[in-house]
Amino acid sequence: MGHVLDDDKPCHECGVVGVYLAEAAVGEPAEAARTAFYGLFALQHRGQESAGIAAVDENGEALVHKAMGLVSEVFSPAVIEGLPGRIAVGHVRYSTTGGSRLLNAQPLVFSYLRGMVALAHNGNLVNYLELRDRLATLGSVFQTSTDTEVIGNLLARYSQDRLEDALIKTMIDVKGGYALVLAARDTLVGVRDPLGIRPLCLGKLEGGYVLASESCALDTIGAEFLRDVAPGEIVVIDSRGVTSLCALQSRQRAHCVFEYIYFARPDSTLDGINVNRARRAMGAQLARETRLQADIVVPVPDSGTSAALGYAAESGIPFEEGLMKNRYVGRTFIQPTQKMRDLGVRLKLNPVAEVVAGRRIILVDDSIVRGTTSRQIVSMLRTAGAREVHLVVASPPTCHSCYYGIDTHLPELIAARLDVEGIRAFIGADSLHYLSVEGMFSALDRGGEGFCVACFDGRYPVPVEGVREGGCG
Ligand code: AMP
Repeated sequence: MGHVLDDDKPCHECGVVGVYLAEAAVGEPAEAARTAFYGLFALQHRGQESAGIAAVDENGEALVHKAMGLVSEVFSPAVIEGLPGRIAVGHVRYSTTGGSRLLNAQPLVFSYLRGMVALAHNGNLVNYLELRDRLATLGSVFQTSTDTEVIGNLLARYSQDRLEDALIKTMIDVKGGYALVLAARDTLVGVRDPLGIRPLCLGKLEGGYVLASESCALDTIGAEFLRDVAPGEIVVIDSRGVTSLCALQSRQRAHCVFEYIYFARPDSTLDGINVNRARRAMGAQLARETRLQADIVVPVPDSGTSAALGYAAESGIPFEEGLMKNRYVGRTFIQPTQKMRDLGVRLKLNPVAEVVAGRRIILVDDSIVRGTTSRQIVSMLRTAGAREVHLVVASPPTCHSCYYGIDTHLPELIAARLDVEGIRAFIGADSLHYLSVEGMFSALDRGGEGFCVACFDGRYPVPVEGVREGGCG
């Protein structure tokens, strides 16, 4: 279940894609943009607020189309045909309230000393405000409240250097979690933050290359997965092929654990770990930790499904689809009528009465943020006749803000205010169980080494100035 957050700050939960086609491989003028479209389509779960694609043609001219809404709503065949060029980058941005954020939509296209560049970014810079102030003092102007524009301005400041060198200098300036794709004349570039917080992978197309936030986008467009972009690496793709620059080296790794828990698609493999496998292992671990007596295991679709399968397999309790999800919730949703808003989660989920009536249910979800979704689901299941509802959560309590690109903020986190019993009472479940931090680590390959788990333990791998967070409730 996605949820809607208030947004007036540079926070991004996003997906990015980049496509490079060799001259000989171009079948029709807008093939790169079309390929980026299909890539974005596969990354839709990473952002439903806005979508955009920019393509650079042989004269170095960059054209962009971006709008609020789902990928399929934003792009028609005619719009894609208006984006010629063999290099394209695309972006999807997460759902927020209000429809007036088009200015913040990406890719960002700008012109600097060395020509036009299209830039798309997933992640958050923790020193965004400081950098923005510094740039403003030097005379930069800003049109958006995104940190992507700060990156563009930094690149422009270093325009005396080649793009790769300007990027290295920019990477030294920026702190946080980021995955960038840039299209410039004849070149596609991918950049990943030095700790590998945000994901980015490289694939091979017939006659070209593709960069994407998740490997599921590569599968969708028929690209072969080559490898993950390494933390701190710049990948330059041009007529010579792929050149790798080890821009910022760090022994430390801090891959975002929340990608595995909630954000990424189960058919993706990020940094060597398949998301479905990780979620099933977390569900199985949860079954070992809880050992509940019940009739059926019911997932909250879709984000709880893999963990519920793991739970059911480990416990021997049958898996049942007790909730149906409407998968076609799109932009129309931004301003529903008050009456519809009152129906809340029912717009997305409805219980299957025949399955849940009279049963003792283990309800599996990936995480709890504010607790409002779970509260509504539990109440719906009871109305549909469930005898008991035990909520099991396939992650530890989320009690610290994320500053690196997963859009969760302390004031909204129920686990930062209440203990487990308080949360259970709020949600109205018969019992509530979270996965332990150790259990989460044991479910991930590599025993949990090299992950950012700051949202659970408050230990931030990239220091965040002025942050003093409370502990868990
Ligand atoms: P709630 O507890 O009502 O705020 O909603 C929790 C649900 O939102 C979880 O079960 C996830 O499916 C989903 N979720 C978790 N983290 C996020 C996030 N950072 N942004 C959007 N949705 C999220």
